[in-house]
Amino acid sequence: MLILIIEDERSIREMIALALNNEGYQYLEASDAHKADSILKEQHPDLILLDWMLPGISGVDFARRLRRQDHTLNIPIIMLTAKTEEQDMVIALDSGVDDYLTKPFSTKELLARIRSLMRRTNKNLSTEQISVANLKIDLQAHRVSASGQAIDLGPTEFKLLVFFMQHPDRVFSREQILNQVWGHQTFVEERTVDVHIRRLRKALQTSGHENLVQTVRGSGYRFSASH
Ligand code: CA
Repeated sequence: MLILIIEDERSIREMIALALNNEGYQYLEASDAHKADSILKEQHPDLILLDWMLPGISGVDFARRLRRQDHTLNIPIIMLTAKTEEQDMVIALDSGVDDYLTKPFSTKELLARIRSLMRRTNKNLSTEQISVANLKIDLQAHRVSASGQAIDLGPTEFKLLVFFMQHPDRVFSREQILNQVWGHQTFVEERTVDVHIRRLRKALQTSGHENLVQTVRGSGYRFSASH
């Protein structure tokens, strides 16, 4: 699980990073919204910890923006803030964040909030089986089936499908898909993604699941059971 920490106070950022690392989570750090933006162009974190009082764009304004962009729309956000008034909490939650944690907080509480939010928003993430619309992946056995019938996939198509099914209903650019499925160290052209998407769709055709892999014109791809 990858978590993006957006916090300008270095000591707090480091405290959070250490706690996440101890818990086995991967993390990325940004000291302001601008840096967070450039990270989000290439990476797709599973959760964002967002400080309210940031230099430049405030956390609340940034959260509003994240909720308007296709590729960040569904990323769960926990806002971190020293503001304790009820009115502030309302402003934060109205900006689209999922949870709100007031400073000072213990790392224990932070981790509990993260787990709880992940359970609420992304329960497929760590399970051994993922299923969407009768399409099922057994992560341990590396098997895919549709309505009980086995589907043969190449290794890249398999990874691609796992990634999509773990992050449904979100739009990913070809670059993001490359980073997430192929990894950062690869020198693969973006058009390679299209080739594997075509193969994946073809493999899903027999069971009629090919429409779950949707092309979003001008943006990339999305995996969704709804149209
Ligand atoms: Ca701050």
